[in-house]
Amino acid sequence: MHKFMQANNFTEIHSPKIVAQGAEGGANIFRLDYFGKSAFLNQSPQFYKQMAVAFFDRVYEIAPVYRAEKHATSRHINEYIGLDFEMGYIDSMYDVMKMEIAMLKSIFEYIKENYQNELKILEADVPEIKEVPSIKFADAIELLRGGEGSGKKFDLDPEDEVNLGKYAKEKYDSDFIFVTHFPSSKPPFYAMNSREDPREAYKFDLLFRGLEITSGGQRIHDYNEQVEKMKAQGLDPADFKNYLEAHKYGLPPHGGLGIGLERLLMKLLNKNNIRETSLFPRDINRLLP
Ligand code: ATP
Repeated sequence: MHKFMQANNFTEIHSPKIVAQGAEGGANIFRLDYFGKSAFLNQSPQFYKQMAVAFFDRVYEIAPVYRAEKHATSRHINEYIGLDFEMGYIDSMYDVMKMEIAMLKSIFEYIKENYQNELKILEADVPEIKEVPSIKFADAIELLRGGEGSGKKFDLDPEDEVNLGKYAKEKYDSDFIFVTHFPSSKPPFYAMNSREDPREAYKFDLLFRGLEITSGGQRIHDYNEQVEKMKAQGLDPADFKNYLEAHKYGLPPHGGLGIGLERLLMKLLNKNNIRETSLFPRDINRLLP
């Protein structure tokens, strides 16, 4: 990833992991006492990547991300390595999706060229990436459930992801499938609403062999639009004054994504549990070694 990002004019950044607020909302955030004040462990470098786009145009970060996942699942750990990038001057989220595919291709080619022996020992199954199919969220729900409950659904559940993985393999012979245009009423608040249908957002997930490995999209760069969307999602823009200064003083159209490294590896190495692809996993019951 470093090689690819640098060859494509992305600047590496290191954003703080002790932060004043979470970017992703929800309850899965670790609180800590910061000299008597409340602080958090970052749930994503989102705000910092966006601010850095204002002056570096294209940025990336490979760093820990903290999620206080309270349930033991085979796909969640409480500290994972986020592969994140954010790029300015895009025309649409499709620019971000194209960049992701080019990056994954480059990573897979690189490991095939340089790590044949290790790939054999680990019984890795490195995918051949051809054309990656894409399906809109509403169409995916229709396909999976015949429209049943589609009005109420805001996200895919693990079973939906597995079934979409099978669909991509059978219909397109692809290990990957993009799901796009998630409902705009759902977080994140920084996702730009679709110009064609404001009930949808320019947000996508990438599934790899039936598991979500990426969330990404085009972000809101206009100050008023961001303030309005925060209000629409029941958030108080005053709580985000500092972040909103970037929008106020000038952000280019931009978008980006985050990939979970352990999830990517889990699928590459055909493991059933994410703990097998983390060096020292952190989960609800594990803090050692
Ligand atoms: P999920 O719906 O599977 O819980 P999410 O929607 O919370 O994931 P995002 O906030 O979109 O995930 O994070 C982007 C990526 O980071 C995910 O696609 C995944 O690869 C990875 N990721 C998120 N949470 C975790 C976690 N607890 N453990 C490992 N990887 C994670």
